[in-house]
Amino acid sequence: MSDRHKILVVDDDAISRNIVKEILSSESYEVIEASNGNEAMRKAVVANPDLILLDLIMPGVDGFEVCRRLRTELDTVAVPIIIFSSKAEKEDILKGLEVGANDYILKPVEPFELKARIKAHLRLKSLYDDAHAEKKDLLTLLEISQAVSSTLHSNEILYTIVKRVAEIIEVARCSIVKIGKKHGIGYVVTTYENPNIKNLPIELDKYPEIKKALDIKGTVIIDDIFNDPLMVDVRDSLIKLNFSSLLVIPIMVREEVVGTLFLRTSRKEKSFTPREVKLCQIIANLAGNALANAHMFESTELANLELEKLAITDGLTGAFNHRHFRARLDDEFNRAKRYKSPLSCIMLDIDYFKSINDAFGHKQGDIVLKEITDVIKNNARKTDVVARYGGEEFVVLLPQTDKDGAFMQAERIRTAVKGYRCSEQDRCIMVTISLGVSTFPSPDINKADDLVGLADNALYKAKNNGRDRTVAA
Ligand code: GH3
Ligand code: MG
Ligand code: MG
Repeated sequence: MSDRHKILVVDDDAISRNIVKEILSSESYEVIEASNGNEAMRKAVVANPDLILLDLIMPGVDGFEVCRRLRTELDTVAVPIIIFSSKAEKEDILKGLEVGANDYILKPVEPFELKARIKAHLRLKSLYDDAHAEKKDLLTLLEISQAVSSTLHSNEILYTIVKRVAEIIEVARCSIVKIGKKHGIGYVVTTYENPNIKNLPIELDKYPEIKKALDIKGTVIIDDIFNDPLMVDVRDSLIKLNFSSLLVIPIMVREEVVGTLFLRTSRKEKSFTPREVKLCQIIANLAGNALANAHMFESTELANLELEKLAITDGLTGAFNHRHFRARLDDEFNRAKRYKSPLSCIMLDIDYFKSINDAFGHKQGDIVLKEITDVIKNNARKTDVVARYGGEEFVVLLPQTDKDGAFMQAERIRTAVKGYRCSEQDRCIMVTISLGVSTFPSPDINKADDLVGLADNALYKAKNNGRDRTVAA
């Protein structure tokens, strides 16, 4: 938008319009004209004038009607309208003011009076616009501070911020970029254009404006990408994306830049106004805590997940530990009972494992144990629970699996282990396993322990019958 005020002069009489134009030529106004009511209403919306001078008597839609209609349109409700007419009757003046005009001037117009009144109304309009914009800004800030102090997840707060900023400041892109610990990398934590983006890594070398904001710990405004020396290296790619101005505001937490609020526009006429920059600076301030929290939340969440995983995993093999197996056994057994679905259990034990330790050493034995575990896991389904039962004995719990299915699964594991060759040894280590399988429902199984006990008995039989085999209970 240019700083020149735009004035729409509506009069069916060309001479009368020219007189007004002549008077206004000494001012720096941009004058546009309309010669009838319909044209006036169209231009009032399309050209977005700062003030309208409106004649009353016109063929077709008259000035009263134009005024009435403009006051019902959202785009024109606040534009100052000065009626200028030769109709000097008091009723006409009153009627004009009643339908929404701001002022009334009699023709022939007195140049000084016309100019003075236009100036007065433009001043009022500008005060009105400022108050209106300020109100919008305050509402935005209110909403953002409510979001920030709410119980929302930090990522939702950050998205609320970019969404509201994009709505009140006409931008093509609005994002929050977190500055990573790794040098030269940033992460787009949230962006208005694509709500699905989360922690998208970007190379900061491609964003000199962000790097500068980090350097100076201050706001960077690039009014015009084409003329700013900072942007020389990346100009071509930005031109393709149709951007014209950029705004980067650092988000600080305890004097440290933790991220930036990053806006890009494709507005041709003007860059960011001081009001917009100030608003974004306040918002960046509010975003600081949310961004820091998002960071903390993520890392504690990860740490918790890590701890949880540690607590249920056997350290050597990476299989679930005995305790976790017991918990899952109870859950699965109850579920199977309730839904009358089958549940199977495979107990398996490595044959003559002692001799492997004796021949290759305990350390090598550990490696074999770990690798056999991987083989078992790779030959189980995602829903199966593979756990180390103790020593070189494992258990596999198979939900929704009947006797035949479990036996097949056991045989698949047995065959796979038999095909295993230790990876870290010149001499070839081969291993076999023995397996026992049990399945619920069965007359012998009343509780979870019975399922495991029967599988254990079957395993014992497999050992006694010569090992390297599967026995079903
Ligand atoms: P089978 O089961 O066929 O009857 O013979 P086995 O030799 O495998 O059985 P046994 O129960 O006699 O011996 C188990 C061996 O497994 C002894 C023990 O040192 C070894 N073992 C148990 N846990 C580990 C472990 O974590 N690492 C290593 N390297 N060896 C283990
Ligand atoms: Mg054994
Ligand atoms: Mg054993």
